[in-house]
Amino acid sequence: MKDHSQRKVGMVSLGCAKNLVDAEIMLGDAVSHGFAVTSSPEEADVLIVNTCGFIDSAKQESIDAILELHRDRQTEKRAHQKLVVSGCMAQRFSSELAREIPEIDAIVGLDQVGDIGTLLQNLVESDSTQSPLNLVARAASRYIPDYDTPRFRLTPSHSAYLKIAEGCNHPCSFCVIPRMRGRHRSRTISSVVGEVRSLVSQGVREINLISQDTTFFGMDQWEQKAGPRQPVDSQRGPTLAKLLDEIAEVEGDFWVRLLYTHPAHWSDELIEAIARNPKVVPYVDMPLQHIHEDMLLAMRRETSRQHIEDLIGRLRAGIPNLALRTTFIVGFPGETSKHFEALLQFIETTRFERLGVFTYSQEEGSRAAKMENQIPTAEKNRRMRRAMMLQQKIATEMAQNQVGKDLRVLVETPHTGRTIHDAPDVDCKVILTQDATPGEFIQAHVTDTQVYDLVAQPYPLRSAS
Ligand code: SF4
Repeated sequence: MKDHSQRKVGMVSLGCAKNLVDAEIMLGDAVSHGFAVTSSPEEADVLIVNTCGFIDSAKQESIDAILELHRDRQTEKRAHQKLVVSGCMAQRFSSELAREIPEIDAIVGLDQVGDIGTLLQNLVESDSTQSPLNLVARAASRYIPDYDTPRFRLTPSHSAYLKIAEGCNHPCSFCVIPRMRGRHRSRTISSVVGEVRSLVSQGVREINLISQDTTFFGMDQWEQKAGPRQPVDSQRGPTLAKLLDEIAEVEGDFWVRLLYTHPAHWSDELIEAIARNPKVVPYVDMPLQHIHEDMLLAMRRETSRQHIEDLIGRLRAGIPNLALRTTFIVGFPGETSKHFEALLQFIETTRFERLGVFTYSQEEGSRAAKMENQIPTAEKNRRMRRAMMLQQKIATEMAQNQVGKDLRVLVETPHTGRTIHDAPDVDCKVILTQDATPGEFIQAHVTDTQVYDLVAQPYPLRSAS
């Protein structure tokens, strides 16, 4: 029997930032149950693989990680190790995982992230389990964290993701997330502001607000439920605009960034709230997925080309120095070359500051998976390459336009940083010609570029006064 005071837990977290927050909450609960967190799998008494179940490649990556950790624990030193599987794939395929990979010791769902500590204690106490403990109680989760939910943060100390809501009410035909993460449910404004205060007091300089549909924040708490095309109106209840105004009141020098917004729930009041609050950076992440009317309809995006183009116009007019990030899916069933050319044309004329392109993934259980006219993989990849090549040209030009400018930079490592226009993990970086202190804001003079990245000479930030 192992000595419990040494219990250690290790975590492999895959997928998106929302899943990463779940991993941080699981580790937070483990720590509050006496575990220490280790980054070396060899030392762990229990290893958690926090899976992603969004698209095929992500599922394969999750299975590979589970099998690899199981293989690696086939040594005498690690024979006692327990293997736990959590995350979206566990939520969606718990019985399949238990059947296909009986070596797993326990499978936990998205509703267990906040109270996994007891399970881990019981697991390390017990000898090997006969078959996986399958603790996934229901198809779609209902859990939502609160401001005092213990978290063991896995991001750099100066930057944090803050989950303001969970689940999604949209019917996008290619997506299975609502089936795993359930209906949209927002935290309260005071809960989110409480967590912002706590993060800022821990020295966090950048708070990335995330959920499946960040712009729908609060609207599920309105008296009369807000529908897809309902105008956003703060008189009717909590909204993202109200939340930003309250976060802006929190003392401290920090950035607030909006990720995962949906075009259907933007409002002039939200645009004004971003423009009037200096803490909220002029950066908007808004996955659009496509622009041709036929594709938007087939994808069930609950929006139209006209609406999107009007919205982009209002965003650019209402938020000075805005950087717009979006993502598109190419190769959706039935996408003709005419549809694809329309998308390329739109990318060319709109000139997004940041852009990602994904090939359509035929997701079992999604409406689109049953559609005719599925596009061959080679053609999907060819379209993605063409779209990314076009964006590379645009992004390189935009980077060159920054040369000679002075920019505020959040230092990430001694040699690199990010500007207000760069979200963590997905966007460009600033290569610093001189060392700087991670977690600090500095001024830097852009002297050159490296494709989309900037090269800049740092100089200390003059005090605000
Ligand atoms: S908005 Fe659409 S793509 Fe995004 S999580 Fe919801 S259903 Fe999925």
